[in-house]
Amino acid sequence: MSKVMKDVTAAGFKRDTLVGHLGRDPTGWKGAVNPPVYHTSTVIFESLEELLETRRDRASGAFVGFTYGREGTPLTRAFEDAVTALEGGYRAVVASCGLGAIAASLTAFLSAGDHLLIVDCVYGPARQFCDDILTRFGVEVTFYDPLIGAGIEAMIQPNTKVVYMESPGSLTFEVSDVPAITKVCRARGITTIVDNTWASPICFRPLAHGADVSINAATKYISGHSDLMLGIAVCTEAAFVPVKRTASAAGYCGGPDDVYNALRGLRTLPIRMERHQQTATRLARWLKTRPEVARVMYPALEDDPGHALWKRDFDGASGLFGIELKPCSEPQLAAMLDHLDIFRLGYSWGGYESLVVPTYPNTLRSATTYGGGPSIRVHAGLEDCDDLIADLERGFARLAAAA
Ligand SMILES: *Cc1c(COP(=O)(O)O)cnc(C)c1O
Repeated sequence: MSKVMKDVTAAGFKRDTLVGHLGRDPTGWKGAVNPPVYHTSTVIFESLEELLETRRDRASGAFVGFTYGREGTPLTRAFEDAVTALEGGYRAVVASCGLGAIAASLTAFLSAGDHLLIVDCVYGPARQFCDDILTRFGVEVTFYDPLIGAGIEAMIQPNTKVVYMESPGSLTFEVSDVPAITKVCRARGITTIVDNTWASPICFRPLAHGADVSINAATKYISGHSDLMLGIAVCTEAAFVPVKRTASAAGYCGGPDDVYNALRGLRTLPIRMERHQQTATRLARWLKTRPEVARVMYPALEDDPGHALWKRDFDGASGLFGIELKPCSEPQLAAMLDHLDIFRLGYSWGGYESLVVPTYPNTLRSATTYGGGPSIRVHAGLEDCDDLIADLERGFARLAAAA
């Protein structure tokens, strides 16, 4: 499998061609286009020597062989290698969900007495993991302003081991200066981790901007159909063994069908992302013209505060953005959100369907404040944009009527 994959990447094909061919070896699978799904816990060894070889393989950190379902199968490896090739890493590690990949990556590099710097607009459950779990095990956690850039240097302590970024940030969509931060950290031997879920491997490649680990919640855009939970951490050569050993030791692993469907989703990721961006851009522009809207938070818009950095570092935008409404009552908000015909009210995003969810950014910040009014996170799905605009237009009419 890796033989064929290397041929594909070495051929210098463009990204969309690679997406269709990475992690595939039809000649090894009797002609089947797609990889087989390995439903297995046990891996049978032909001999004692073969069993001992896998023990040496794990001990050395090579992790090439297959020993047990929890450690991955050839299918897991195909998915990991495909995402790794897209993001330009050494190897990747699959986890049961995005949060599992985050927990594995953080705990791989942090011990009691160490200090973690983590961005203030981080995904809420990641914040909770740091506040509730890491601190209990003696890790010092400090949140930093997403706009800090090279100013991160002043927050670094002698015991700082990891700087964790997410760009654009959850709920408020600030763009971080990832290259400026990784440059400061590289010079000091500090490990950098970036949550890349918003951009997906199509729109941003954190390792190309100096990061050590890039995390994707494959639950979102990679799978694209809101039907599974999976996480993946793409690593540099130096970061791979610590993350793999930690994921393995803590029992973070992906289920066979979820990995299969994530790899299947990857095949259409570029065209889906293009449409998500197109629809989100049109929606965001339209929302800016609405009298009910105070602000739109979407770095792909020219006048967004993060636009210049986004344009410099990203290859595209996803379909997720935030809007801040002018002050309105909760019954007004309910009148709008409760009766939408296409947009549904729910957490998560990255699937084919449009979603909205009210957000409360101030409840998830400690280093900075969100100075805005009621806010909504919008996920632009793959439906017709005219229908989506009409749906929101009817929602605004209900909001006004409920005043
Ligand atoms: C959803 C999400 C995650 C977590 O992924 P799960 O698969 O739901 O655990 C991590 N980071 C970001 C930015 C997310 O939106």
